[in-house]
Amino acid sequence: MHQTRLRLGLSHLRAHLFQHNLIVNPTCQFCGLEPETTSHYILKCPTYTVHRVRFLMGITNLLDAPYIAGLNDDKIVQLFLHGDPPSSHETNENIISLAQSFIVKVQELNSGTEASFPFFISNIFRSVKHKNIAFRMFLSHI
Ligand SMILES: [Zn+2]
Repeated sequence: MHQTRLRLGLSHLRAHLFQHNLIVNPTCQFCGLEPETTSHYILKCPTYTVHRVRFLMGITNLLDAPYIAGLNDDKIVQLFLHGDPPSSHETNENIISLAQSFIVKVQELNSGTEASFPFFISNIFRSVKHKNIAFRMFLSHI
């Protein structure tokens, strides 16, 4: 998974799968607290706190302190998905790279839960209506 899938709502996050009728329950399977939306994944899921702190610490090395102090949740999600348009190309590359390593680390963390993978596949192939989307999502897991 990468930022593009999150931006398009085509990731394996449960809220996205739910939107495409691929699963019946959008609740985050890692914390069970609320639907696994993009903002839950980036900002809230307690399972990823360590990686989130690493991302935010990295951001503090790239942007000015007063600017960071003014970041609200929406802006952090925007930074994660799109970088910071007013900043330099280099800064943006670093922001996107931090977001990528968050995603990679979280995937490593979750690799212990691959037992749910066959169930996930069977759900996908039950969906005829969204066959194309399902197939693309399936490919993203390989
Ligand atoms: Zn969660």
